[in-house]
Amino acid sequence: LPQVVFAGKSNVGKSSVINKLLGRKNFARVSAQPGKTVHINYFVIDRKMYLVDLPGYGYARVSKAEQQRWGALMETYFALGLLTVGIQIVDIRHKPTRDDVTMADWFRASDKPWIVVANKLDKIKKSQLEGNLAEIRQTLLLPAEVPVIPFSAEKGIGRDEVLEHIYGYIGKEGSEQ
Ligand code: GDP
Repeated sequence: LPQVVFAGKSNVGKSSVINKLLGRKNFARVSAQPGKTVHINYFVIDRKMYLVDLPGYGYARVSKAEQQRWGALMETYFALGLLTVGIQIVDIRHKPTRDDVTMADWFRASDKPWIVVANKLDKIKKSQLEGNLAEIRQTLLLPAEVPVIPFSAEKGIGRDEVLEHIYGYIGKEGSEQ
């Protein structure tokens, strides 16, 4: 099955985005202990795909050892070459962090399709939108073909666009096999 991989910094709203995309309320749990999950959750969705939930990163109070475990886990997952499409979630309000840049490096190096979901759109003014999107694109060094999709898990904005990309990439892989 194709693997749709979700990654994002702790508290960026990864669980909320996943729940919104699936149209479920409590599929991915909203975590009480950010940064504590150092394992990968796999879910089979509609017998069509794996939703792969990578552990949230960049939580300030995580020990060096836990950060290293995160790095080792990424190394293992990406080395296996299993992902079909990557969904990287960032906060539309802020310049991407160093950890976001590191995560983007993993996706870029994977040579697989990848989209960036810029979440919490409801928290910025319209006038900030273009500038913030440009900053995200520049900071993450996104190749031109990687879309940045403004999203609000709170308001449900951007859902159809993200799903279109996901199904587009899954369909492509399906027809090759
Ligand atoms: P995770 O740690 O990345 O899985 O993040 P969560 O899904 O647990 O969300 C972290 C916090 O951000 C929660 O308080 C959510 O209610 C809030 N949140 C998530 N998405 C949005 C959004 O689009 N807009 C706003 N305003 N808040 C959001």
